[in-house]
Amino acid sequence: MVKVCPSCGRTEREVPFIGFFCRDCYLRDHQLVEVPKLRLKRCPLCGRAYFSGRWEDFSLDRLRDWLVDHIKVREMQGVQIGVSFPEVDEDLIRYRAIVRGTVEGTPVEIPLEGEIPVEKVLCPRCGRATGGYFQAIIQVRGADVEEHAEEIARLVEREGGEYAFVSRVEFTKDGIDLYIGSKKVADKVARKIERRYGIKAIRSHRLITEIQGKRVYRLTVSLRFPPKD
Ligand SMILES: [Zn+2]
Ligand SMILES: [Zn+2]
Repeated sequence: MVKVCPSCGRTEREVPFIGFFCRDCYLRDHQLVEVPKLRLKRCPLCGRAYFSGRWEDFSLDRLRDWLVDHIKVREMQGVQIGVSFPEVDEDLIRYRAIVRGTVEGTPVEIPLEGEIPVEKVLCPRCGRATGGYFQAIIQVRGADVEEHAEEIARLVEREGGEYAFVSRVEFTKDGIDLYIGSKKVADKVARKIERRYGIKAIRSHRLITEIQGKRVYRLTVSLRFPPKD
């Protein structure tokens, strides 16, 4: 007995079948792939994006994984998903995807395309940084303060994490003060500088407040650079 598709009348000699129906009619009546409406939050200052519950560096690979995580596939076996992004703009991302697999042994290929609106949202780190938040001050003193302040700022940012930022740069008559989001980061960077230049930092802690019985200290680290010879 040759199967005949009850919907379009073609036979299994002409087209592959899934169950009683030809593949085309089966796929028309069964939604095997679904993508929910997606939006992506991206920070206009640092470019990071809010993927699956946290802020992460943005890359097309990460975007691809995030999109694939949201594609829901039913009934198919051996699913493989290929994704491309014909357009990645500040406020809109366009994607194309092909979902391949088999249903009851019959190969199936489902093309998808869609748009992901991009919402500009300041990430918490940039929010704190632009809001002037700081836990520590690194005082850059001695010779070539501008050069060293830039070097320190780069080291701070390289530490990564939600508090690794310089929220304010202040030129004083003694040198440059860098306001740093994290005491830990400031201390770590100061130790790197101490090793790199063979100098000793002066650290001081000042009690600024008490939160629920816990004392909160601000750290000040003073680094004095010797003149280059
Ligand atoms: Zn059919
Ligand atoms: Zn940001």
